[in-house]
Amino acid sequence: MTILSLEHVHLVREGRHILNDLSMDIWQGHVHAIIGPNGAGKSTIANTIMGLTGYRDITGDIRFEGESITNLSVSERAKRGITLVFQEPARFEGLPVMSFVLAGAREKTRAVFDKSLIMVGLDPDKYRSRAVDRTLSGGERKRIELASVYAMQPRLVIMDEPDSGVDIDSIPYIFEVIQELRQSGTTVMLITHSPEVLRQADHAFLVCAGRLVDKGSMQRMYNYFNGRCVPCSHVGCPDRELEEIPAFTNLEMQAGLEAANVRADKEVRNG
Ligand code: ADP
Ligand code: MG
Repeated sequence: MTILSLEHVHLVREGRHILNDLSMDIWQGHVHAIIGPNGAGKSTIANTIMGLTGYRDITGDIRFEGESITNLSVSERAKRGITLVFQEPARFEGLPVMSFVLAGAREKTRAVFDKSLIMVGLDPDKYRSRAVDRTLSGGERKRIELASVYAMQPRLVIMDEPDSGVDIDSIPYIFEVIQELRQSGTTVMLITHSPEVLRQADHAFLVCAGRLVDKGSMQRMYNYFNGRCVPCSHVGCPDRELEEIPAFTNLEMQAGLEAANVRADKEVRNG
């Protein structure tokens, strides 16, 4: 069953189509990845679903649980159970870890706090009285933020680059909480350019230059992304690409990107 759908979403910023006729269906209770190179428009998709300032003025429609949310504010979307974990952990300098973790929780109890911290591999007794501040490492911050999402049990969580700025020891806990959220019925959207994060998903949408290139099982998209996108030196410059790729089959997209690479190389050589 579809929980969230984007229907022909366009977003124009500074005269550029940064999202271009983007349609996608997110299935309830599954883990989906949105994968694509830097500058593809992935964070823009997250920000647009959340309805952040600067990402509201779209054409097309965004529907959540059967109703259009396109004209709802961020807080109205949050009330419906949509939450966004930013790439850079939000700073709530000085707030006690326990208050931070329980801020969005229905049940604000010590038991929920303890369970949520254990879920991300942190000892609740060691963190309860600490503050969310610069004494926490990037990995600790991200884990605490994910503990707060676990305590909240949202309907849909969008995680923008959940592995970014995270020490290698914290990564397994991040993956663990993704699977735990899924187990407890939360729909998860992972925004990433990392093949390893992609592996956590059931399905994936491949985006480039603000458009959907392909979608399918994680394994198929993994092969596609690793085989074609990782070696591709194209950097997202949506309008130029789109002008040059009139039809939009996968092969044509690929040919277009390869041609763009050749042109970019020539431009570099010719100065
Ligand atoms: P990704 O997350 O895939 O790396 P982004 O969604 O951050 O890519 O950005 C996609 C493109 O849209 C980039 O070219 C970026 O500069 C542009 N963009 C994103 N947000 C804005 C904005 N608020 N105003 C103008 N351009 C933007
Ligand atoms: Mg991004």
